[in-house]
Amino acid sequence: MIVEANGHTIDSVRLGELLLPWGQENFRAFPWRTTVNSYRILMSEVMLHRTQAIQVVPVYRSFMMTYPDTAVLANASLRELQDALFSLGLRWRIDLIHRMASEIMIKWGGHIPVERADLLSLPGVSEYIAGAVRCFAWNLPEPLADTNTIRIIGRLFGLETRDSSRRSSRFRTLLNSLIHFDEPRRYNYALLDLADGVCTKKRPPDCHLCPLQSLCQTGISWVAERPS
Ligand code: SF4
Repeated sequence: MIVEANGHTIDSVRLGELLLPWGQENFRAFPWRTTVNSYRILMSEVMLHRTQAIQVVPVYRSFMMTYPDTAVLANASLRELQDALFSLGLRWRIDLIHRMASEIMIKWGGHIPVERADLLSLPGVSEYIAGAVRCFAWNLPEPLADTNTIRIIGRLFGLETRDSSRRSSRFRTLLNSLIHFDEPRRYNYALLDLADGVCTKKRPPDCHLCPLQSLCQTGISWVAERPS
């Protein structure tokens, strides 16, 4: 599919051909990424909200040893969860996890619902978290719009982005149009890893290391302006 914006066109198939092999080589093997267990992925996404992945790793590991599934989690007291998650901060998140576990038990017998609307009805589950769970647990083609992925989209098409761009329908449509429908899980992991390691916030980003440079409006300009 050819996707056009700002006078620049990108072939989504070619983008996938370039991004997926790079993603495989540069995959960050966090413990929540080596499972397709929907409970583990949901908990990791809640923990990762506004928190560095490296900070989450030990907490996630210990949490999964103590609370391996929704049934065990639902029986935990709020005080126990506070102790388990204290180091991540964001006290309100602990209350949400406590309520979330109860609702999953009552409404879905302990199983994480796959439908988007059902996920979104859970306390603390945002559009991003619902999409991430559906994509990483069930390999469904969900666009994951956050400041990092939208930054890549903006640069690919030479569009200015700001914080609010992740809620913009224009950027979301572009993100959606480029998704790889056969390999959405691998595609989204690769996009997140690219945003973390290459297409970072710094200006200019490391276009010379980027697998998408030949397709990217910003990357093409970077090559044209580079001193020879
Ligand atoms: Fe980002 Fe540069 Fe890659 Fe474009 S070529 S996606 S600007 S790192």
